[in-house]
Amino acid sequence: MKILVTGGAGYIGSIVVEQLVKEGEEVIVFDNLYQGHRAAVHPDAVFVEGDLADRAAVEAVFDRHRPEAIMHFASYTLVGESMEKPFLYLGQNVTNGLNLLQSAVAHNVRRFILSSTANLFDDPERMPIDEAERIVPGSPYGESKYILERFLYWLDKTQGFRYAALRYFNAAGASAERGEDHAPELHLIPIVLQVALGQRDKVIIFGDDYPTRDGTCVRDYIHVIDLAQAHILALNALDRGSRTYNLGNGQGFTIREVINTARQITGHPIPAEVGPRRPGDPATLIASSDKIRRELGWEPQYPELRDIIESAWQWHQAHPQGYEE
Ligand code: UDP
Repeated sequence: MKILVTGGAGYIGSIVVEQLVKEGEEVIVFDNLYQGHRAAVHPDAVFVEGDLADRAAVEAVFDRHRPEAIMHFASYTLVGESMEKPFLYLGQNVTNGLNLLQSAVAHNVRRFILSSTANLFDDPERMPIDEAERIVPGSPYGESKYILERFLYWLDKTQGFRYAALRYFNAAGASAERGEDHAPELHLIPIVLQVALGQRDKVIIFGDDYPTRDGTCVRDYIHVIDLAQAHILALNALDRGSRTYNLGNGQGFTIREVINTARQITGHPIPAEVGPRRPGDPATLIASSDKIRRELGWEPQYPELRDIIESAWQWHQAHPQGYEE
């Protein structure tokens, strides 16, 4: 199948592209390289540099490459930044997504995978969080993803769209060749590993007064290759109907547990200091992925935090400056 992957030069997108290419799919990557890296794009994928805000550029990709399915990763993705720049997130993330959807409809492409988020669950009533949990977006970022989910819902009803919305919890880890490289880096595991590499003095723990087993936030870390596999299963299931899944390991780890595991793996003391809470952080986020396990037979290959951090450590050691070298 010919698959258009927006944001295919980014962390998750590039690893999904790698897995799609391995499965023998034809991939066209569309990315503006704002956060993505040209070097992250698998050499067997076609690369088109362009911006989803540019309607003509989006149309040109459909005209020229005739995709049969779309995976949409390209997005501004920072929860904290979205609190400061609501127009960028509720504006740009939504209008860029709509440009893509309009072209998809115009070109009769009706298979669509949306990368959505756990940031829809700011005030969960049950833990782990399943798909029946009520939606409370935690930020303009989360809201922008929810708006696109709703668009897809109505395009299913009115245009025969078949979509899967995959709500990721904390994507982490690396493949042998591709890993996490953001500038600035704000995510816990790469920051912890940058300390182990001697690139930072310490990690700041954002608050230790949460109602959790050691006072630090609990998150559900899912290996990015397992996430990629879920995309492929979801794509292959679209002909049986649209679907929405929460994606995590179903197990939560505190920040201190992450740091301790990284200490064991790297052999580095990784100094840590407690700082203030980061606004907008819920205490605990753990996914129930029972639905995708049951319906699609998804089974994580790397459920252990140790293996997830180990794979990231291998990649960061091999690419200490990320993709910049
Ligand atoms: N975190 C931290 N120090 C850092 C970066 C993150 O204590 O330098 C915490 C953050 O507050 C959250 C957890 O680590 O509780 C995971 O954060 P990350 O940004 O990696 O992912 P998020 O949960 O925000 O998607």
